[in-house]
Amino acid sequence: MDRQMVQLITSANELTAILENISSIGLVPTMGNLHKGHLSLIKKSISENKNTIISIFVNPKQFSPNEDFTEYPRTLEQDLSKIKNTSKGKNVYVFSPKSIEEVYPPNFSTTLRVPSFENKLCAISRPNHFEGVCTVIYRLFTLIKPNQAYFGQKDFQQLCIIKAMSKDLFPKIKIIGVPIYRDSNGLALSSRNKYLSINEKKDALHLFKTLKNMAEQMKMCWPNIKKLSQLTTDAKNLPIATNIRWDYLSIIDANTLEQVRDTSTQVIIAGSLYVNKIRLIDNILINKES
Ligand code: AMP
Repeated sequence: MDRQMVQLITSANELTAILENISSIGLVPTMGNLHKGHLSLIKKSISENKNTIISIFVNPKQFSPNEDFTEYPRTLEQDLSKIKNTSKGKNVYVFSPKSIEEVYPPNFSTTLRVPSFENKLCAISRPNHFEGVCTVIYRLFTLIKPNQAYFGQKDFQQLCIIKAMSKDLFPKIKIIGVPIYRDSNGLALSSRNKYLSINEKKDALHLFKTLKNMAEQMKMCWPNIKKLSQLTTDAKNLPIATNIRWDYLSIIDANTLEQVRDTSTQVIIAGSLYVNKIRLIDNILINKES
């Protein structure tokens, strides 16, 4: 491999051939249209593994029929150039399948789910989303057999589900959660921020501001569980711009995604806000001792 080059792999066969010659692999699964949040995962993998494989695959199984699968930004050339600038001569491979069949062979009919983490938060408005995520990660783990895999804490429910699935099916793969990368104003980076106008981006800040205020107030009321739920109700009832609305806002146990209990050691304040039609998510993780 050219020391400054990133190797592009477009088929499962090519991937299998390369994997015969490399070991110690960090995997960063993405859908492309890379931003600094993705790059923070990639940098971490590069610093912790001899080889990094970045998958770029817009997974049809995790989109509902009314979602943005066809419009989802596909920007492979720009993504490759960002990866090249980040990889600095390290062994980096990009798996960007040339067709869906490279990931799901013809007649592939299995789907996976982790029911205990579903029926809540994002799964309410995206009913089959996590089944699609689990299934694609299952396929990527099976094809690549990484030693470590990197996921953003921004998609906290996804991280919980993948940790649970991996514990059962791929116990040797270490799942690593990477902190949320934010703009200087606090807005969590997301490929979907591209759909927002300048004014909508300002409105979107209501999400992080609310979570941050709640985190401040929580310091004063945890472990009083009744007060936690009052905090959520109060935050939801604050007046907001007419083009935004809450999908959900919750304070929950970060390990179970269930109600906070006296025994909870980590909680997460998780929110999802619609800005016009664009649904954004964010969260803040809080340790009991902090
Ligand atoms: P996606 O391409 O949206 O599927 O995201 C690929 C990975 O990047 C997922 O593990 C996301 O959680 C992670 N990610 C996306 N945005 C951010 C961010 N702002 N900070 C950290 N990780 C992120």
